[in-house]
Amino acid sequence: MRFLLSLILLFAQFNLTISGFEAKYIVLMIGDGYGYNHQQSVNAFTGVIPEYQAWQQYWVSTYSCGGSYDPSSAWSDFNYVKQNPTDSAAAATAIFSGHKTYDEGINISSEGTCFSTIVDEARLQGKGTGAVTSVYISHATPGAWLAHNESRNNGFAIAAEALWGNPTTTMTTTTAYYGGGICPTHTPADVLIGAGHPNWNGDKYVNGSMREKLFAESGNPGAFHFIERQSGSPNAGTRLENLANNPSVTRLAGLFGGSNGNLDYRLADGSGYNPENPTLTEMTEAALKVLSHHSQGFVLMVEGGAIDWASHANNMDMMIGEAIDFNNAVQTVIDWVDDPSNDSTWQNTLVIVTSDHETGYLNAFYHAFPIQAPPQITAEMLLLEKSISGTGVRASWDDQNMNDLIDTGEDMYWSWNTTGHTNSLVPLFAKGVGANYFNIYTKGVDPVRGNYLDNTDIYQVMYLAMNGRLPFYQLLPFLQKSTSKISFLTLY
Ligand SMILES: [Zn+2]
Repeated sequence: MRFLLSLILLFAQFNLTISGFEAKYIVLMIGDGYGYNHQQSVNAFTGVIPEYQAWQQYWVSTYSCGGSYDPSSAWSDFNYVKQNPTDSAAAATAIFSGHKTYDEGINISSEGTCFSTIVDEARLQGKGTGAVTSVYISHATPGAWLAHNESRNNGFAIAAEALWGNPTTTMTTTTAYYGGGICPTHTPADVLIGAGHPNWNGDKYVNGSMREKLFAESGNPGAFHFIERQSGSPNAGTRLENLANNPSVTRLAGLFGGSNGNLDYRLADGSGYNPENPTLTEMTEAALKVLSHHSQGFVLMVEGGAIDWASHANNMDMMIGEAIDFNNAVQTVIDWVDDPSNDSTWQNTLVIVTSDHETGYLNAFYHAFPIQAPPQITAEMLLLEKSISGTGVRASWDDQNMNDLIDTGEDMYWSWNTTGHTNSLVPLFAKGVGANYFNIYTKGVDPVRGNYLDNTDIYQVMYLAMNGRLPFYQLLPFLQKSTSKISFLTLY
């Protein structure tokens, strides 16, 4: 009892210490698969270091439930990080809810416990909620932002929960992809824009009845205003901007898509992009505008999802193109915070830019530790990228004898070292109210990267920033880490 009382006192004290500095706005930007060497590669190609990469930087471990990260193995055993990497669902669950789960799990534990996410908590506070993505709106990362499901593969259930707060909305005779929504349902999103239009390979993520419902209800009181890809209308960005600028639009759903299911890949030189789809930057701008109607603020997740897909394909050209769009989207958010004509400032807004995991084990060399990023990337080098015979991965090198092997004396530009994910640490950049809380969390020290935190700590920082305190059940471990509080604790 005395112990409980002391905890309550601590709780009150801690609450007092930092209240008044809460984040009204949180924008979490996730480059899916966007590892450190990816970022360096993009910068090598563009010759520009994005503003956000000069912010305070942290490193993050990404493993899923039952996994771990051993820093010494990561730099002594080349194959270590290829073993047992997280998938995007478990990584997103960890970042959004603070809980590790199994791969494919969307805010549910292997025992069937439903996790409350930062979005669920934002909704309780009356904040707006939204997500934009360059891949399917119900793919793992946006899915975990807005839904709870036993498996990421239940794309229709995840889309239905995100859009209408109930995973079986629009379910008729077929039950495929509508299962797994075993958690109490939640308030739907205010903004959701991305790929998945059923006419453009919506696949198992968004179906025709969902598109029909959005179309039929568009503009009704309380319903989404709906915008979609239209064949022969190469002005999606302008149409989206006009809709978002309409002051009567307080909820917005956008369905776009392309030949691979995602918005068509933007290539490094800017080609490939299809103006029948908006860019990630334009979607982000629209989301900020529409969510700004919420007087209590909002939480927004922006996902550069196709960075991961391009990296699975070991395609540097597509990876750089998608990453440039992601970097531009980050700059859009920075400009929005800096813009004096709205009420967001770095004193009431937290912006986090990170990755859910690394994809492709990208490196300057084949089969070497990823200590060195490609120092230079040119358009010519992009054209040289091809499969290394017998390896299953692609690289760019000056294959003088054209035997598809990297021979001694042939100049090497870069190499992918897996077509899957890795367990490597990923970078995190943060600015704004609460960004310094990342300094509290250290899970270990990596011999190359230095101090690192865990992806579950991102949730804690967002919660702390949003509420001015931690969730009650998480206070104790937090206090144990904070030396000034440990002495206070031991008094009792
Ligand atoms: Zn992936």
